[in-house]
Amino acid sequence: MTPGHGPARHIVFLGPPGAGKGTQAAELARELGFLHLSTGDLLRAAVTEGNELGRAADGHMRAGRLVPDDLVLAIVRERLARPDAARGFILDGFPRNLAQARALEAFATLELVVSFEIDPRLVVQRLSGRRICPTCGTVYHLDSRPPRVAGRCDRDGSELVQRPDDRAEAVEVRLKVYAEQTAPLLEHYRRLGLLRGVDAAGTPSEVSARLRRLVAGAAPEARSPTERL
Ligand code: ADP
Ligand code: AMP
Repeated sequence: MTPGHGPARHIVFLGPPGAGKGTQAAELARELGFLHLSTGDLLRAAVTEGNELGRAADGHMRAGRLVPDDLVLAIVRERLARPDAARGFILDGFPRNLAQARALEAFATLELVVSFEIDPRLVVQRLSGRRICPTCGTVYHLDSRPPRVAGRCDRDGSELVQRPDDRAEAVEVRLKVYAEQTAPLLEHYRRLGLLRGVDAAGTPSEVSARLRRLVAGAAPEARSPTERL
C-alpha cells in the first residue's frame, strides 16, 4: 500500500486487556476477509491441547504475566507466512513489548496501529463479566453480550467459562504488565506515524463504526496521529 492511500491491510490493535480488541478484530477481519491473529487465542488453544507450547505458556498466562517472547514470535512468524494472511491481517494482543515490536518489523510491514482508548474502570467491568466458549473461543459478556441461553455458547452449546486470568488477582497483574511493558509501544508507533486512536467506550456497534471509518481511510500521515474518530 502507498502510505496514506486506500484501506490498511496490515493492522495492529493495541490497548489494555478488556478494551474490546478481540471482539472488534473478529468482526472486522471476517468482514474484510483478513486473518484475525490473536496470540492469546492461539496460546489458550495450545494450553487446552496440552502440547509443549501450552505447557510452557500455562503458568505465565494464569498469573497474568507475558509468555516469553521467543515462543510468541515463533507462532506469529509461522502464522503470517501462511496463504490466508495474504489479503491482510489484524494482530490482536501482539506485539506486547518493544522487543516483540522490533522483531515483528523484520518480517512484516505495518500500515496502521489502532490504539483502543478506554477508562480503566470500564476495562475492569468488561473483564469481570467476560465469559468464553472453551470449544470455539467466542467471547460473551454477562451484561453487554449475553448468550441466548444463559451459560451456553450460541454456536455449539458448550458451557461458557471464565478465563482463569480474568479473576481479580490476575487482572491486577495484567493491568500492571500493560502499563509497564505494552503502553510504551504507543510512543513507538506514534513516532513511526502509524498510530491512530479510537474511542473504545460505547456499544460494540458504535466502536465498530468508528473502526471501519478509520481502517477504510487509513492515512496515518495525513492526519494528526492522536486524532480520535
Ligand atoms: P480484549 O480482546 O481487548 O481483551 P474483548 O474483546 O475480549 O477484549 O472484550 C472484553 C469483554 O468486554 C468481553 O466480555 C466482551 O464481550 C465485552 N465487550 C467488548 N466490547 C464491548 C463494548 N463495546 N461494550 C461492552 N462490552 C464489550
Ligand atoms: P489476551 O488473550 O491477549 O488477553 O492474552 C492472554 C494472555 O496470553 C496474556 O496475559 C499473556 O500471558 C499471553 N499472551 C498473549 N499474547 C502475548 C504476547 N504477544 N506476548 C506474551 N504473552 C502473550
